[in-house]
This record gives sequence, C-alpha cells and structure tokens, in this order.
Amino acid sequence: MELKTKAYFCHMANNEDLFKNIIAHAKEYGFVFQSSELYDGLSAVYDYGQNGAELKRNIREYWWKSMVQFNDNIVGIDSAIFMHPTVWKASGHVDAFNDPLIDNKDSKKRYRADVLVEDHIAKIEGKINKEVEKAAKRFGDAFDEKQFRETNPRVLENLAKIEDIRNRFFPALEAGDLEAVRQVIIDLEIVCPVSGSRNWTDVRQFNLMFSTNMGSLSEDSSVIYLRPETAQGIFVNYLNVQKTGRMKIPFGIAQVGKAFRNEIVARQFIFRMREFEQMEMQYFVRPGTEMQWYEHWKETRMKWHLSLGIPASKYRFHDHDKLAHYANAAADIEFDFSFGFKELEGIHSRTDFDLNRHQEFSGRKIQYFDPELNESYVPYVVETSIGLDRMFLAILSSSYKEEKLEDGSERVVMNLPAMLAPCKAAILPLMAKDGLPEKAREIMDFLKSDYMCQYEEKDSIGKRYRRHDAIGTPYCITVDHQTLEDNTVTIRDRDTMKQDRVNIDRLESIIREKLRS
Ligand code: ATP
Repeated sequence: MELKTKAYFCHMANNEDLFKNIIAHAKEYGFVFQSSELYDGLSAVYDYGQNGAELKRNIREYWWKSMVQFNDNIVGIDSAIFMHPTVWKASGHVDAFNDPLIDNKDSKKRYRADVLVEDHIAKIEGKINKEVEKAAKRFGDAFDEKQFRETNPRVLENLAKIEDIRNRFFPALEAGDLEAVRQVIIDLEIVCPVSGSRNWTDVRQFNLMFSTNMGSLSEDSSVIYLRPETAQGIFVNYLNVQKTGRMKIPFGIAQVGKAFRNEIVARQFIFRMREFEQMEMQYFVRPGTEMQWYEHWKETRMKWHLSLGIPASKYRFHDHDKLAHYANAAADIEFDFSFGFKELEGIHSRTDFDLNRHQEFSGRKIQYFDPELNESYVPYVVETSIGLDRMFLAILSSSYKEEKLEDGSERVVMNLPAMLAPCKAAILPLMAKDGLPEKAREIMDFLKSDYMCQYEEKDSIGKRYRRHDAIGTPYCITVDHQTLEDNTVTIRDRDTMKQDRVNIDRLESIIREKLRS
C-alpha cells in the first residue's frame, strides 16, 4: 500500500500570523498551556502539557548527554533553588540585577528602555540590509557585499547613526544615568508601539529578583531570593565538586534547573518567562587560557545546535561589544524566531569574578592547586548558558509546517528531530475488532520499554495519521487483517508519508536507526 503523497509547502502565513498559529497549535496539541488558565492565566508563566513535557525532557536529556555523558571532565549537579542571601550580594544581583523601565503615559504600557533602543537600532540595521539586498539584485554575480558595506554612503550614514546611539546610550546605562537614558529615547523620537505617542515617564531601575521569607517567626525570618540564574549554585559548589570528584583543571560543572526573573516586559510566549529553566555549564580553566576555551565552547555549542538538523541560516553569533564588568568576552547564539533573530544561548568568559567574590564574601579560600605549574590560583570560568524553554520554542517554531498535499488536502506537521519527538511511534489497529487491537497491544508492549509509544484506535486511520503528524510522531504503525496472517504491518513515515510493509520483527531496528540519524 503506497500513497502518492509528495507534499509541497503551502503559502505559510506571514510571520506574525505564523507565530500565532504556532502558539495555538502548542495549546491544541498539549504542548504548552497558559499557567492557571482556569483563573484567566498568570502573565508570563506557562505549563507544559503531555506532549510538551516529553519534548522538553528530550531536549534536556540531549543537552545533558552531550555536555556531561560525552565529556569525561564535565560533571552534573542539582543545587537548590533557595540559596543563602549573601550569595546574591556577592554575585552582584542584589545591587545590579536591574532593568531600566519606562512607561508610556498614554497606553500605560511598560517597556525596558534598553529594548526600545535596541529595537530602534534593529530598524536601522533592517534599512542597511535592504540596501544591500537591492544592490545584490542590481549587480548580480559581480556584487561585492563587503566592499558595498564599506563604501556605500547610505550604509555608512546608517552605520554612523547606530554607532552614535550606542556611544551615547550604553555608557549612560552603565553609569546609571537614567536621565541621559531617557533623553536618548526622546532624541530618537521613539514612539510607543501601542499608543504611538512619545509621552514617556522617567526611567527607573527595577530589580528582577523575586524574594520571599524563610522561617516561620517574623523575628527570625529572613528575606531570601528565588535564584535568577542557576550558575551561582555551581560557583558555590566549586570546592565541593572539585575535591570530592578529584577534578583537574580544565573541568566543567553542568546543571539544569529553574530560574526566576520578574521580567518587566514578558511577551512573546515562552521566549521570556518569569519562571523558566536554564541549562548551564561553567568550565573552570587556568588563567590566561580562557580565550582559547571561549572559542572552543562557541564552536562546540554551535555544532550542538546544528546537529539537530535545523538549517544553519537560522543561527548566528552576536558578539557583545559592550561587556558586563566581570566578562572579558561574550557572545550570544541567536536564533531566527518568527519575531526576528534573538538570543537563545550565551557564551561568556567570566574571568575569576564570581569565585573571587565568593572568596571575599564567605571569607573562605577558593583556589586550585595546579600540580603542573606548582602554584595555586583562582580559576577562570567560561560559561555556556541556554534557556531550555527558548530552545523548546526554537525547535517548535522551526518544526511547525503547514503543508498542502498533492491531492488538495492540507496538513500541519511537526518535523521534529526524531530523537526529540514526544512519541516515537503510534500503534494503530485499522479497526477496533477482529483481534486487531490485541495484536496492536502486543506490539505496543514490546516497544514501550524502549520508546515512548501511543496506542490509538479511535477515528479513521487518516485522522489518526494527521493527529500524529501534528505532534511530530516519526512513525505510525498500522495493524490490519494481513498482520494476523503474515506478521507484517505498515509503517508510515511522518515526513514523506510513504508507507512500507514490514515484518513486526524489524520495527525495533527501524525506530532505533531513525533515532540515530
Ligand atoms: P535577555 O537579554 O533575553 O533578557 P539575558 O542575557 O538576560 O537574556 P542570560 O542571563 O544570559 O540571559 O541567561 C542565559 C539564557 O537563559 C538566555 O540565553 C536565555 O536562553 C535564557 N533566559 C534568560 N531569561 C529568560 C526568560 N525570562 N525566559 C526564558 N528564558 C530566559
């Protein structure tokens, strides 16, 4: 039985509609729900449904395997969300983990001042790119993009504008000169996207950490924070892990866990949440070698992303020109979400800042004795930090496809990398009678100890195929009357929709092969 179903992409909706469709799809098929939806939801907090939880778990495991299992000098920990309040003093979060916020008096909408300015810069960059595209079309093969960017007067003028904005804005922000920060927004004539007005309030600093009290009595209770990043749990355990694991530099400590930030602007679905999950790794190195490790991890992390089969054009590096006070190099891996290229992962060379600060605030010596150099030092750190939820969104949005088939029908399919798919195989008896369900259950029992499988007997086989296309199940296995005679089933491939008749004994190896590829 082979269906002629070569698919071609139908006109995908424009980016904004596409993003809305993805969000609706995520809800309809049990990937992501608004938290507390029953009570009209809680802003920027989300729950993962039955398929989302599996997809998220698979991404987490893939990261853990590549970082911890495949590297014998990287170990994983699981530190608590609550930490001693002094940790956040030492790390600088109590004093400096702020975002500059500004309100529009007409729309009453709140914005991050830096995001307003970054968006303005992105618009100017957009103009430059349009200019380059136009010229590329005009000149054809003879086009020298580098030369064009370096000499075209309009490009140069726009580049100078960007440079000028950056030179004014970031030093003002860093110096905490909020009046000057506001003035940049006024001078650039930035308008509120909702009201269209330039009626702005003053800029204020807003600390992003959530706090709560620990202890039952008011006199002995103390304010503690919900961690805004998982990294500090690694730093404060550096000595424990290094000693008990007898780790030799260079070595890494990895961790996956929840982090909490009271984000000012929490839009764009699970891109920016108030409760989210991070996958972080701190790599401890000999001072002076950090740049080499920084380059190594930039390259390694990009390879990890590309190993998932998502086109390279969806990713780019963004090197930071303005560095945090503790960093001597930093880059983001940006992903082309349907709302533009945005940070997905950060790779930072954090020097010895964090360990030094913990040394200072705890009064304990945090050093490594390097037997090769015969000296002790505070190790330098190169960190890789990726948001699990952002990775989930990247995977979800790059896998979501609206297709029109040759026979005129349409389908939504999620071309998820097979190893990440929530369900690896659907076991479907053609009819719910004649002993087909029993046979299908037998296959299910055989496969389920190794793979997440789903058994379904409701609805027509076509509808069941569509449902599994929509959640990204790589294989549908159909049990029919012939199965009872010769022990064969049809196995349908999600992407090609091609069906093959195979012996039941081959199913396990077919699935295993697919997950490896
Ligand atoms: P952004 O500039 O987008 O606020 P950031 O630079 O503050 O992010 P980091 O502190 O470097 O982010 O955190 C590391 C990673 O954690 C980010 O690359 C991102 O994937 C993820 N992350 C940070 N904040 C959030 C959030 N509010 N919701 C979901 N993921 C987040």
